[in-house]
Amino acid sequence: MSEMRRESPYQMVPIATGRAMVMAQVAPLDAEEIDALAAEGRVLATTVSAPEDVPDVPKSAMDGYALRSADGRWARRVVAELTAGAQPGLRIGPDEAARIMTGAPMPEGADAMIPVELTEERDGLLYIQRELSPGDYVHTVGQDITRGQPVLARGALLGAADVGLMATLGLTRVAAFRRPRVAVLATGDEVVEPGGPRPAGAVRDSNRYALMAAAREAGCVTISLGIAPDDYAGQRAAILHGLEQADVLLTSGGVSMGSRDLIKPILAEIGTVHFGRIDFKPGKPTTFATAGGKLIFGLPGYPVSSLVSFEVFVRPALRALQGDARPERPVVRARLSAPIRPSPDRPEYQRVVLSWREDTIWAASTGGQGSSRLISMRGANGLLLVPAGDEILPVGTGLEAIMTGAL
Ligand code: AMP
Ligand code: MG
Repeated sequence: MSEMRRESPYQMVPIATGRAMVMAQVAPLDAEEIDALAAEGRVLATTVSAPEDVPDVPKSAMDGYALRSADGRWARRVVAELTAGAQPGLRIGPDEAARIMTGAPMPEGADAMIPVELTEERDGLLYIQRELSPGDYVHTVGQDITRGQPVLARGALLGAADVGLMATLGLTRVAAFRRPRVAVLATGDEVVEPGGPRPAGAVRDSNRYALMAAAREAGCVTISLGIAPDDYAGQRAAILHGLEQADVLLTSGGVSMGSRDLIKPILAEIGTVHFGRIDFKPGKPTTFATAGGKLIFGLPGYPVSSLVSFEVFVRPALRALQGDARPERPVVRARLSAPIRPSPDRPEYQRVVLSWREDTIWAASTGGQGSSRLISMRGANGLLLVPAGDEILPVGTGLEAIMTGAL
């Protein structure tokens, strides 16, 4: 029988220090060329500058008449009609006007247009209700985007508007950072596949699936490494196999003080353990190591602990690996809508529902905060950082919260 240890050989590291230690090991992955027109969710690896002006010729901003402002308020002859698809090149002379539709190129000679609502047209003559200045209602060259202007920055997370911008500029290929490959290994003699039989007392593997889902939500590609029983050689082989295929390896379980908690010694053997204990609830034994330039996170076995530790330590690293200029989730200051009891010995990330009322963000606990109670994460859109203490915190207490979802 092997021994249970009473004291961890690893120093207790504060949360902020642990996060900084992780980020210090992260450099963006290489870039790849991708389809710019389906690039949402990806991070730009280069700055994109406009290759042309938008619009490229002066255009009418409304439906109406193109004319020469210098002709004043006198009636004009209507000599042409220009629709949005018309070729530029028509010319109008003094006391002439052209019917023009929104988006049609302005005729040469015209320096302004007047919306149809401010006009009358009778017997081929145009009468206008107001005097115009040069440029009125004209969509000028480069008004929306100027040639050479940087429109998207390296590190930007691309969304629908960015895809639209690239389409506007005729950019169909763009350089994006590669998505990190994240391999996930569950450990534990008691852990079984969710879809198979479950002997009495066995636990279905929720962590591997939840962690893979979280990694994909964070923009990664996932690799499942299955479940490794609590055996040193087997877990070591599974980890080495995972490292061959992945940029980041996540393990679940086996990092506590039990006799079958083997992850820390394995990581110490195959790489460098940067921390093995964090001063926080609910994930004290969270472990971070590197081996051959790859990141390895040993996450705790309890489902809440593993997902909260993922949020706090892993997710920012996964975002930074794909070059995101803003790898952290937004942090807000929230007030307690009901009293809460802090943990007496460690700062704790409590799962909360954040909501916006009366110009304040309020935090309401999702109920029992036990580490096995995965349901406490359901519906939560925030992780409230509650400092250690002996006294109950009253309603209205302001605390920092990581926003994990929309308000
Ligand atoms: P450990 O850290 O390995 O001692 O695991 C602590 C507890 O977490 C176990 O007793 C299980 O109840 C639970 N657990 C471990 N691995 C998983 C998993 N993959 N999915 C769900 N629960 C797990
Ligand atoms: Mg275990």
